[in-house]
Amino acid sequence: MRRYFDTGLMAMLGLLVALIVGNGVMTHHHIGALYDARAKVDDSRVVLAALDDLLGAMQDAQGGVRGYLVTGERPYLEQYAAALPRVEPRLVDLRRLVDETSEQRELIAPLRASITSAVARLDELVALRQEGGLELARATMAEGGERSAMDDVRRLVNRMRLQETLQLNRRALAAEQSRDLALASVAFATMLAVMLVAVVLYQMLRGLQGRDAAARQLEGQKELFRTTLASLGEAVVTCDMAGHVTYLNHAAEALTGWTAGRAMGQPIADIVRVVDAAGHQPLENAADAALRDGVELPSRHRGLIVPRGGGLERPIEESAAPILDAQGRPTGAVLVLRDITERLRTETAMREADRRKDEFLAVLAHELRNPLAPLRNALHILRLASHGPQAVQQVCGVMERQVLQMVRLIDDLLDVSRITRNKLELRREPIELREVIDAAVEMSAPTVARFHHRMVLEIDEDLPPIDGDRARLVQVLDNLVTNAAKYSEMGGTITVRARAEGEEVQLLVRDTGLGIPPDMLERIFEMFTQVDRTLERSRGGLGIGLTLVRRIVELHGGRIVARSQGLGHGSEFEIALPALREALPPPVVASGIEPGSTQMRRLVVCDDNEDAAESLARMLRMMGHEVALAFDGEQCLQVCERVRPQVVLLDIGMPRMNGYDAARALRLRPGGEAMVLIALTGWGQEEDRRRAFEAGFDHHLTKPADFTVLARLLDDARRAPKETVHA
Ligand code: ADP
Repeated sequence: MRRYFDTGLMAMLGLLVALIVGNGVMTHHHIGALYDARAKVDDSRVVLAALDDLLGAMQDAQGGVRGYLVTGERPYLEQYAAALPRVEPRLVDLRRLVDETSEQRELIAPLRASITSAVARLDELVALRQEGGLELARATMAEGGERSAMDDVRRLVNRMRLQETLQLNRRALAAEQSRDLALASVAFATMLAVMLVAVVLYQMLRGLQGRDAAARQLEGQKELFRTTLASLGEAVVTCDMAGHVTYLNHAAEALTGWTAGRAMGQPIADIVRVVDAAGHQPLENAADAALRDGVELPSRHRGLIVPRGGGLERPIEESAAPILDAQGRPTGAVLVLRDITERLRTETAMREADRRKDEFLAVLAHELRNPLAPLRNALHILRLASHGPQAVQQVCGVMERQVLQMVRLIDDLLDVSRITRNKLELRREPIELREVIDAAVEMSAPTVARFHHRMVLEIDEDLPPIDGDRARLVQVLDNLVTNAAKYSEMGGTITVRARAEGEEVQLLVRDTGLGIPPDMLERIFEMFTQVDRTLERSRGGLGIGLTLVRRIVELHGGRIVARSQGLGHGSEFEIALPALREALPPPVVASGIEPGSTQMRRLVVCDDNEDAAESLARMLRMMGHEVALAFDGEQCLQVCERVRPQVVLLDIGMPRMNGYDAARALRLRPGGEAMVLIALTGWGQEEDRRRAFEAGFDHHLTKPADFTVLARLLDDARRAPKETVHA
């Protein structure tokens, strides 16, 4: 109601209705009064007529008596006799009609008395005429007794007439007033009714106009909705509560193969048929599911849509939701479908491009490593051969450092590719942190020495073991110590501290170097972030090291923080790693193999990079081994046939026959079981290792091989359980 009538109009309507009701009551009252007044007027008229009649009867009686007295004829007597009975009923009428309270009523008794007296006089005259004759009667009449009695009657009747006439006039006036008031009330009621009708009409008009406007707006919105849905790239299908289709846009027509006309009223599950991509099993229609559970189903890719008439099946993404009315009750469901063929194609293309990029990086690293191997071998030869001139030793030192730096950069690059693909894996085992620290300190020693830094180790005696990847943790600590050395001025102090802290082991690397500005303390762990990127300040890094460090620490379930009081105030990196509760078995004491102390072995070295093969062979010979060479897999088999080596060092990627096939073939030969096969390759990923072991290799080393490790392997060379060694 409120929506259609505003407050002003409501008040006006209320007032009008109240006025109409009040006026009705008044009109009723006035009309009642009018009727009353009319009845009273009529009463007065009857009273006047009764008075006239009464007087007439009395005069007739008097006339009859007088005629009889004079003539003595009977008809006069009869006139008299006929007049008398008319008197009493008129008197009764008068008594009934006059007002109880009025003066008239008081006059009735005297009137009756004077009539009785007049009638008695007339009766007396009649009797006198009959008994005494005409003269006696005339004499009595002359006395005038009867006349005075009649005069009384006449006087009283006239008085009553006068009063009744006055009454009649008053009543007629009152009736007139009541009529006027009743007419005024009716006129007022008519006016109010007209006003009421006008207000209602006005309101109806307004309501109709409003409804027209609302209808136009609704139509406009519907049109907008229809156009939007029709031109939408996504397919939209709606259904009612029974799951029957109520709408289908153009995109849905194209995707389902149904026209809107034919689909209307059909079960939605028959129109939108979705099967799972792998097994082609029909899947529940998402709109049906949304109707059943009364919940919105977010966009997801479940399978393929099967169009009508055997069209091309397409991968789709679907979302569905119940449609609610204004009261929140479901009235149906809407299903939105997206053809994701293009998106999947793009994703596949991107994945492919990504895979190719990773492959490229791996190939690049491999190709970069290849020339490094002979270089490193040549260096070693130089060092072994020339115990002489100091200059050569120095040059060797320089070259070795540079080669090592290149190896590190390339290894870091490979690790980046692993991190971005989430492929960085740990090979965990219970280890002593002390060994990790020693190895890292040894590894970073050349850099520390180059900058003339002082190295301080504060290692707790009773450090608990940890469950970790030894090589990766050495990489972490080496990175931190090398950074400490690189980012400090000459002659600084580097402190490495390790101690147990509750359930954790805490490892700290502190330096007295350049320091790190506060805003960079967190950012330096991000990929490719360097505090100072100017080339002239470069200290030989790619901004990858700390990213790797953090990732490796996190993979171990630990955390790392960097602290610094700012530029010029040194830095410290603190790592916390979960400790292992059980103690480790006593460590196996390292053999401490030196070049030249190895047992003599008969070896075959096989590599298609002749420089690499020859330099390695030369170095091994200098270490006292007997070495034969081959430059591809097939040649390797022939040489092995001839030489019967104890150890074969095999490259993997070679023409004619690759290293895997060669290894497999060697294992099948007589005596092949006993040979120690070592893969020596640029391919250092987990997958490459697995494939090498599957092909029958005992060990897997990445180029350029670390001579200490190689020497130890040759020393231990006997067929033993497979082992993985990092180069
Ligand atoms: P980079 O190869 O450049 O050394 P890192 O990821 O190891 O890459 O380190 C990122 C940056 O963090 C470095 O470039 C350097 O600016 C800063 N940084 C790392 N360690 C230290 C340190 N001990 N003292 C001062 N700055 C450091």
